[in-house]
Amino acid sequence: MALKAEIISIGSELVSGQNLDTNAPWLSRALGELGVAVAYHSTIGDDMDDHVAAFLAAAERADLVLTTGGLGPTQDDLVREGLARAAGVGLREDPESLAAIAALFARRNRPMADRNRVQAMLPEGAEALPNPIGTAPGVWITIGRAAFASMPGVPNEMKLMFAEQVVPRLRRRHRVERVIVHRKIALFGRGESDIEAEALDLTARGHVPEVGITASDATISFRIRGEGLTAEAAWAQTEETAEQIRGRFGPLVLGEGAVDVADALVGQLARTGATIATAESCTGGLCASMITAVPGVSTYYLGGVVSYSNRAKVDMLGVPAELIQAHGAVSPEVAAAMAAGARERFGSDVAISATGVAGPGGGSPEKPVGLVYLGLATADGVETRRVEIGPEQPRDIIQRRSAKQALDWARVALLARPDGGASR
Ligand code: AMP
Ligand code: MG
Repeated sequence: MALKAEIISIGSELVSGQNLDTNAPWLSRALGELGVAVAYHSTIGDDMDDHVAAFLAAAERADLVLTTGGLGPTQDDLVREGLARAAGVGLREDPESLAAIAALFARRNRPMADRNRVQAMLPEGAEALPNPIGTAPGVWITIGRAAFASMPGVPNEMKLMFAEQVVPRLRRRHRVERVIVHRKIALFGRGESDIEAEALDLTARGHVPEVGITASDATISFRIRGEGLTAEAAWAQTEETAEQIRGRFGPLVLGEGAVDVADALVGQLARTGATIATAESCTGGLCASMITAVPGVSTYYLGGVVSYSNRAKVDMLGVPAELIQAHGAVSPEVAAAMAAGARERFGSDVAISATGVAGPGGGSPEKPVGLVYLGLATADGVETRRVEIGPEQPRDIIQRRSAKQALDWARVALLARPDGGASR
């Protein structure tokens, strides 16, 4: 029979709305990956009667109860006592936990305060869950029909304890055998509905494995959920679908996992050995910022200019003043000259540029808000593209989307090049 789980988040800072409860959703997702369904989320403040009532209710309606918070050394940390009361037992001092707490203080060269001793107290019949990175051990105890695992509130400590202590117990003692993997394949360059239209067979209800599409900042992600008795089997179940997505969308595919346009661009720079420079007006350095956010890019990114004024375009990039006069700063001619100037001045293989109307003001019928011209300079010459993000979009979206499009254009241009052979 399938396990039914409940998650109890503990802390007055949570019920009062001061702090956001991130532990419960994290644990729900983690249990979901083990095939365990979560039926309830409860949140309680630091009150003893509420602790006991919540624990007793959970012990009746769930098989597995995960709690976080309330294990600290202070007066308002009531979980140990609350569990003991709900189980109808007393508290005992656990010598191993006490030794572990003392050792942690010794490692940090700090005296152990007397009140930390209380963290080694466990309800009779409970097991301690070691906490290698904090003072509070967790508690594993059976109350009613339910197994309780009480973990610290500090997210890092909770996550480590869940992985190292709770999951192995679930596998050993509760026949939690399934493994669920989530794969994410990121795409860029077309709209979400366009992409979904070409993948309706994969995203259909009942497709095995399950496939979903999400969009974030114009990056589209296919999420594939595989299930099996082992991690390998779960992964194998996703393989064919992943291949189909790669095959169908080819150059739009940025990669797998937490990959975005800049990561994929840097991947192509590393593969080809090409170098890049940037010339930015309306994006204000976002292209440079996105590229330099990727570790290890220093070999490939030579530098950039934020030429916001016309004067800077002329002085720093060598854009002819007459060109700006004749066509305006937001024009394909100026985008081309900016990219060519950056390539020339930085001596890079490739250079990208962006000049546009980020809004909210400054639009005109011919050059509306959201209009951006991009430039790409390579050894083959300079090309430009007209991009319209949309006059209704806020400034930051116009800037981010056009910066990502510029990066992606360079990425796709590099796709055709052979490994290692930078051409200048
Ligand atoms: P506690 O274990 O109750 O002393 O909690 C220690 C700290 O962990 C709190 O001050 C919060 O910063 C954090 N914390 C506690 N519960 C949660 C939760 N449910 N989600 C995110 N952070 C939490
Ligand atoms: Mg607390």
